[in-house]
Amino acid sequence: MNRLRSILDRIDRRGYGAYKDLQGSYDFERFTLTIDRVQRDPFAPPSLIRVRTRDNRFDPALFSNPVRKFALEDFLTRRVDAAIRKIVRGNRGSGGSGRVEIQRPSQVVLPRTSMVVHRDYVEARMAVGLPARGRTVDARAARAVLLDELPKVVGASLVPAGVDEEAARFHVETIEDAERLRGMLPSLGLVAFVADGAVLPRESGASDRPLTGGAVPFESPEELRVTVELPNRGEITGMGIPEGVTLIAGGGFHGKSTLLEALSWGVYDHVPGDGRELVVTREDAVKIRAEDGRSVAGVDISGTIGELPGGRTTENFSTPNASGSTSQAANIAEALEVGTSLLLVDEDTSATNFMIRDERMRELVRKEPITPFVDLARPLYNTLGVSTVVVIGGVGAYLDVADRVILMEDYHPHDATDRAREVTERFPVKIEGDGHVSLPKGRRVRATSIDLRRGRRETARGKGLSTIELGRERVDLSYVEQLAEPGQTEAIARIIGEFASSGKSRAVREVVEAAITGLETGGLDSLGGFRGHPGQMSLPRPQEIAAAINRIRSLEATTERH
Ligand code: ADP
Ligand code: MG
Repeated sequence: MNRLRSILDRIDRRGYGAYKDLQGSYDFERFTLTIDRVQRDPFAPPSLIRVRTRDNRFDPALFSNPVRKFALEDFLTRRVDAAIRKIVRGNRGSGGSGRVEIQRPSQVVLPRTSMVVHRDYVEARMAVGLPARGRTVDARAARAVLLDELPKVVGASLVPAGVDEEAARFHVETIEDAERLRGMLPSLGLVAFVADGAVLPRESGASDRPLTGGAVPFESPEELRVTVELPNRGEITGMGIPEGVTLIAGGGFHGKSTLLEALSWGVYDHVPGDGRELVVTREDAVKIRAEDGRSVAGVDISGTIGELPGGRTTENFSTPNASGSTSQAANIAEALEVGTSLLLVDEDTSATNFMIRDERMRELVRKEPITPFVDLARPLYNTLGVSTVVVIGGVGAYLDVADRVILMEDYHPHDATDRAREVTERFPVKIEGDGHVSLPKGRRVRATSIDLRRGRRETARGKGLSTIELGRERVDLSYVEQLAEPGQTEAIARIIGEFASSGKSRAVREVVEAAITGLETGGLDSLGGFRGHPGQMSLPRPQEIAAAINRIRSLEATTERH
């Protein structure tokens, strides 16, 4: 501490670059502060620091297995964030002077690089805007941040004395229950579970927080009610969605999309109070939507789309500008390629001609390459075991292919399967297709087609939630709907960066599997690229890693022979 103080005294009022002298470790009373990387100027991204406590006095039961450990890490990250807001003044000069931050968690709970709970210590990885007056070192302000505010933040968030241990226990137990519940789905023959009492609607279209006023809690229809036993919460009931083809039907504004959205986020765990803590979906579920304008590289979409104009085959389909329907077909083929057991489709975000073709159009238009999804949903399940949940308001043909129909009325789900059977008998519709689909061919993608150069440097980094910068290319992930937070985007960017540097040509699935294996053995920190502070990252799913690779516009790929 004294050494830090004397360095600060020495560099006071010198040019900002003098802060470089701070790099290194300092012993405080209760923790060690390590300054890993010092920013170039007050306007640059903030300096990276780590704070490691001398010991770990939290109840070992709070981190006794891998799930509890990442749940406690998530909890402590949120406590640090809250402590910073309360204690740190921020804004102590030019640029980001005096700002202290930790990775900002979303509503979902994920393994992140922000926190490490170890048997012998707790380590928080943060960022600090080292204070400046103009472009010179402001030592007084730096002392206030590093020697006063920071120790207070540690005291209020990283040691048991400053933390509500009961809240920590509840957090950890909630996540453990959700993980257990998701793990139980396959053996129960379910693709999703929505607990009674869950709150599905969100505050607004721009916020992932729960709707507070007037939310109607979820209540399972009798016919679909399932009882399960969880390790902490004990017995709970809720709606089980079985494998197969499930329709969510209902009038406009009755809560169909809200239910589907909740299912699509059910691949992740949620913080206590979110309302969706016990809404879980198969971990590999993929929401499929139309995304016209996206690029497609060598994808085998022949399962859904036949020969295109000019005799173009679709076994190796590439375009810089997909249409609504071809983009949706590519999204399905890519999801099957990386592996999924559940597709989630909402008519609101689908191309009409991808969803359905009515009898008149089947009669009039003979040259139609597209097999509508209504003809695919059954074979997808029957031959590949891939289930579907489809939201439909206006297309009755889906009733014929559904195993189950959930009717939403005033935000209440009803089992309308039997009524739907009566309707289909009275108004029969012909479903086409030969009842068979095959897996798309895998692709090899060429690392050399990804150019990381940008001027003299090489870059592969995340920019917010929905953009990855690879050299001079910006990969747009706005329509990759199950990306939860910027830390995942950053991790994916680095995974792609490593693949690009390998110079290899590999199957997409292999690239993704190798990345996941690497994360399992080395942890997220291994994507850091240097020792010390790894930066702000969260664990991505294989599905989103593949989705990002697939959206690189320069990507070159070839389909593999079966
Ligand atoms: P649909 O897809 O059937 O047209 P949405 O799911 O978009 O309907 O929901 C319509 C509106 O109702 C949205 O503003 C949504 O936030 C709200 N909503 C959905 N479910 C509930 C609920 N359980 N309680 C209160 N409001 C809800
Ligand atoms: Mg809708």
